[in-house]
Amino acid sequence: MKNLQDKMSVCFSQSTMMLLKKVGDVAKHMGCKAYLIGGTVRDLFLHKENLDIDIVIEGDAILFGERVAHELHGIIVSHKRFGTCTVTTPEYVKIDFATARRETYAKPAALPEVEFSSFKDDLVRRDFTVNAMAISLNEGDFGALIDFFDGVGDIEKKHIKALHDKSFVDDPTRILRGIRLERRLGFIIEPHTANLMRRSIEKEIYKRVEKPRLRDEIILALKEKGPFRIIERMNEFRALKIVHPYLKLHKEVDGIFTAIDEACGWYNDNSPRKRSIEKWLIYLMALFGDVSYDGALYFCNKFELKRGERLRMLSYKKQGTKVLKTLNAKRKILPSKIYRLLEPLSHEATLLLMAVSRSDIGKGRIMEFFHKYNGMRASVRGDDIKALGVKAGPHFAKIMEKILYKKLDGILNTREEELEYAKKLAKRRL
Ligand code: ATP
Repeated sequence: MKNLQDKMSVCFSQSTMMLLKKVGDVAKHMGCKAYLIGGTVRDLFLHKENLDIDIVIEGDAILFGERVAHELHGIIVSHKRFGTCTVTTPEYVKIDFATARRETYAKPAALPEVEFSSFKDDLVRRDFTVNAMAISLNEGDFGALIDFFDGVGDIEKKHIKALHDKSFVDDPTRILRGIRLERRLGFIIEPHTANLMRRSIEKEIYKRVEKPRLRDEIILALKEKGPFRIIERMNEFRALKIVHPYLKLHKEVDGIFTAIDEACGWYNDNSPRKRSIEKWLIYLMALFGDVSYDGALYFCNKFELKRGERLRMLSYKKQGTKVLKTLNAKRKILPSKIYRLLEPLSHEATLLLMAVSRSDIGKGRIMEFFHKYNGMRASVRGDDIKALGVKAGPHFAKIMEKILYKKLDGILNTREEELEYAKKLAKRRL
């Protein structure tokens, strides 16, 4: 059996190595076995550091995690139903522990029946050979590679290969996982596996999968570096219908994805108010460019998008084209108008408008919005308006809004000028 201890010492940091040794010590004291598993093992062969540490225990993973957390002064979060837990060390390293389990699928794409089992069964339930390798952390054979399915051979051949012929019938989310992994690693889905995937897609077995599981995979695909390559490959497999039945890949999408990268790069370098951006959502909105509002609504409902995500996606669908047309117009537009057009939209939607705008005028106005107008406030405060005898309510908000618009347009330049204007507005209603 190949021992990887030397390779591990080169690839893993000293603290990760100490941590893995500690896991081995705890296993010895508790009289059970512990194995490092999944992506970390795969990436070790690719000389890539992977900080997602997944450990399988032949024994009670929660008790095990509690002991590790105690010894490392870490924090544990347990999921009793699944027999799993996550320990976070004081250095913020996260380790996931799971009890070895066997999964059987009573029906295609159904949730598997799970029973706690041996470590070998735990490898059999995995998606691809390159993900089904493990490393022993146990005293006596620490560092020994366990590779029942020749994952190492497939890494050398750069192959993504399913473990068995029913893999994509049992769990069609593996179609999306396989494409994502292939593109990320620069591998190729080997021909037999590709045929199995095609068959599962043709039979539309994915329709029986719990929608949030598919949604999570779609989001992960869009979070990868260079997501267009994944979308393109999904299109080759006719797998875009998993996302939406009417989704088509148009020629322009490639260019739009690049323009989104540029717009987000500009935003990160230049916007004074750096709110974090959900870039995957911008790609998704771009992908849905030709799908109708009702089609987008269907997607949001079916995949149970979070409220905020849904609002952002739908507001773009509703307003995007109209707003862009106005912004691209050659005639003069007051800053307050630009503000009123863009402020109700999310930053994601605005960045997409910037990416798809073919006009320098439109792009310039959006940049101006991010630079100057967004986040601008009137200098007078609510208390100043109250002092003028205005009661809280719509009139109050209207006064604040009018002051802001005049400030944006450069008509009111000092706090005194704002107060003067506020007095005038207040009198009209007193
Ligand atoms: P990364 O985190 O780098 O994307 P990973 O391989 O660690 O890659 P995870 O999603 O964290 O991916 O999953 C961990 C492991 O769990 C995988 O390596 C794989 O062995 C297994 N796994 C995850 N999802 C499935 C699935 N749908 N079917 C079978 N095995 C799966």
